[in-house]
Amino acid sequence: MQIVKMGDRLAIPSKVICVGKNYKSHIKEMGGQGTPSEPTIFLKPNSAIANGSSSISIPSYLGLLHYEVELCLIVGREGKNIEPSVAEAYIEGYSVGIDFTLRDVQSKAKEVGGPWTLSKGFDSAAVFGEFIPSSQVGDPLNLKIHLSVNGKVKQECNTANMLFSPSDILCYVSGYMTILSGDVIMCGTPRGVGPVSDGDEIFAQIDDLPYLKFEVERKV
Ligand code: MG
Repeated sequence: MQIVKMGDRLAIPSKVICVGKNYKSHIKEMGGQGTPSEPTIFLKPNSAIANGSSSISIPSYLGLLHYEVELCLIVGREGKNIEPSVAEAYIEGYSVGIDFTLRDVQSKAKEVGGPWTLSKGFDSAAVFGEFIPSSQVGDPLNLKIHLSVNGKVKQECNTANMLFSPSDILCYVSGYMTILSGDVIMCGTPRGVGPVSDGDEIFAQIDDLPYLKFEVERKV
């Protein structure tokens, strides 16, 4: 099982819950229109988790790989049908994460209305930095979010632009599935997503959170 680090605690997420289409600017760059009335939810398996270290290996035969920088939260206790008034108490901490996506595999799935599972759930598709307690993070709806590749800025935004807040997402999903302690939610990406090649260095940062910096290996 894969783990994530939350201070001294090592958590085993039973699932990584992801939100698509959570920034208008990203919906637009993907050719979409309007904004969703409800969060667009998909899952990554525990086996997709990787912790940011010196390098992340994702074989090139899998296809075109895109980065997506995202604000991520870790759940501190079990909940179901969580009410908005108490949602924040369930959020133990935050981190910066990368929702790696096989863009051509996803595009094919979209064409036939198929699930995104393979394009989002391969090994190392969910890379996380260390999680920091919520109490040490400022307003999660006012954090600068940034990603650069080989020193060139690719994504630059503020979490104020999220269509659904971390609490919104937690409440919505918990109406369908029990959220367990250690589960992680990835809150979507702003515009600027793009390809990653062998040897590229990814640097991702969100205010108040430890940055992520690693090289991507894309061996055959
Ligand atoms: Mg994403």
